[in-house]
Amino acid sequence: MRLILLGAPASGKGTQAAVLTEKFGVPKISTGDMLRAAITAGSELGKQASGLMNEGKLVPDTVVIGLVKERVSQADAKNGFILDGFPRTVPQADALDALLTGLGTPLDKVVQIDVSRDLLEERATLRRTDKRTGHIYHLKYSPPPSDAELEHRADDQPETVKKRLDQYDAMTAALLPHYEKLGLLRRVDGVGSPSEITSRILAALDH
Ligand code: AMP
Repeated sequence: MRLILLGAPASGKGTQAAVLTEKFGVPKISTGDMLRAAITAGSELGKQASGLMNEGKLVPDTVVIGLVKERVSQADAKNGFILDGFPRTVPQADALDALLTGLGTPLDKVVQIDVSRDLLEERATLRRTDKRTGHIYHLKYSPPPSDAELEHRADDQPETVKKRLDQYDAMTAALLPHYEKLGLLRRVDGVGSPSEITSRILAALDH
């Protein structure tokens, strides 16, 4: 299964990626995770990327394309992968197409998890994490116990959420037509319980 998972911040993409990697026995490949690991390791790449990431800007295409090329060629990705956070630009999508065609292992599907803008804003801005356990609550849909030590992620503050959603819209405005043209795009309604959404994704992968 070679899959790209697309979904705005707070769309439930992270939850679904975790379920799908388990189900298909393939790794999740996240350029954001790889870049954060490079920063933690203090590598040259990490130094180059950290300023851009802190400002919410994209890391250059050549850098992320290089990371994905190397990662996709590793043994554990032989039977597939779930790409999360890549591609973000049309040049990245073109490079991925060329890479996978060259390897003789084209993409199977691109799944976009659709959630309305209003609901995304509400989900993100009312999301809270318990500092001690890492458990994620939602003040309206999944209220925390009274003794939780709640933390509000810096990037879940309303203004930042709006900015991240704008960026996501700009990105998908270019990517969705690209994958639609290739006949690979499937859109899934992202409103419902996590297991309902998993079922919808699995059904979409069959068509
Ligand atoms: P993420 O965890 O996917 O939200 O990524 C965090 C940050 O890493 C982004 O805001 C970008 O600065 C950088 N990044 C991750 N993936 C890419 C990509 N495909 N292209 C460019 N920059 C990326």
